[in-house]
Amino acid sequence: MTAAPVRTRGRILLSTPDVGTREQEMVAAAISSGWIAPLGPMVDAFEQRVAERCGRAHAVALSSGTAALHLALLEVGAGPGRAVVVPTMTFVATANAVTYTGAEPVFVDCDPDTGVLSPALLEEALTALAAEGTPVAAVVPVDLLGRCADYPVIEAVCARHGVPVVSDAAEALGASWQGRPAGSFGAVAALSFNGNKIMTTSGGGMLLTDDAATARRARHLSTQAREPAVHYEHTQVGYNYRLSNLLAALGLAQLERLDEMIGRRRALREQYAAMVEGVPGVRVFQREGDAVDNCWLTALLVDPTVTGWSVDDLRAALDAADIESRPLWKPMHRQPLFAGARGHLDGSADRLFATGLTLPSGSALTPDQVDEVLGTLAGFLEQHR
Ligand SMILES: *Cc1c(COP(=O)(O)O)cnc(C)c1O
Repeated sequence: MTAAPVRTRGRILLSTPDVGTREQEMVAAAISSGWIAPLGPMVDAFEQRVAERCGRAHAVALSSGTAALHLALLEVGAGPGRAVVVPTMTFVATANAVTYTGAEPVFVDCDPDTGVLSPALLEEALTALAAEGTPVAAVVPVDLLGRCADYPVIEAVCARHGVPVVSDAAEALGASWQGRPAGSFGAVAALSFNGNKIMTTSGGGMLLTDDAATARRARHLSTQAREPAVHYEHTQVGYNYRLSNLLAALGLAQLERLDEMIGRRRALREQYAAMVEGVPGVRVFQREGDAVDNCWLTALLVDPTVTGWSVDDLRAALDAADIESRPLWKPMHRQPLFAGARGHLDGSADRLFATGLTLPSGSALTPDQVDEVLGTLAGFLEQHR
């Protein structure tokens, strides 16, 4: 009797942490240095390097990207009675951060090709909010899947309406727009170092700004807004949002490897692109325009009226081979959490949600895993010609 073949590998996931010996060395160095709890020289160094990388004067290391967005929104005065414009095509954290402040998220649809905030619909939203007399604290463009939003146009629209830009660059460290790095846009920007992002501190984020007072206030709020007195004096509600020195050590090691990791993701994207080239009705998402993205996640867009199959069919085939894939972000205006929220929508995000599928894209994928994913995709395409 022959035994059934044993699966020797686990599920192949979209994007997992890519850490090795350099990361181990740096974390071990942080431990031996005695700087464990919570701040220390590696936090300072990590902030400085990320600020340099993003072309910013100041960076504040925080416990998550969501915390960075929350503090950024507080800084521009988001609160009850005010609106914050958010793209509907994003991860829920963008909208949650607005809700934390008591402001109202107003959802705006995206460019049908690239999925980033539509400047025309943004203009429409800001005009409507001004007409009804609702103050707008901020517009939060999101650098979707590592592709920068259309900042030059968005910044011009926002400047005309006198509304600050808070950039959600959580997915986009290492990307750029016409030579300007992600994280350099807006009055304040937020990065994430969550475990599935382009680089990780196992969990963390960063607030970026050119304004010293903004950075000082964010630091203050992130450490329980503790006034300089021996007895813990407080005049305002603070948060416990700082990143620890141990995690900053991990971040420093990851940052050294950022370009190498982006290179691997880009090479994988090119392999996907080569595979679907010439397949009618299938294309790689976000390959057009001036943005140089960091290839955080590669997605396919499938037009089922041309292909005769849908992204659900492909997802099922990959799933059967124990390979993870996922639709693009479910638009915020479709989330039960935001039922009844206002929006300026034209169906673009809905279409992308229905026709997009993100594929394993991580830099930690082994050559065997890449072969397996590409082989499964090739088999599916062959079978459905
Ligand atoms: C990951 C992500 C965040 C939140 O970052 P965390 O570090 O997980 O809190 C915010 N916005 C977008 C668009 C993200 O993808």
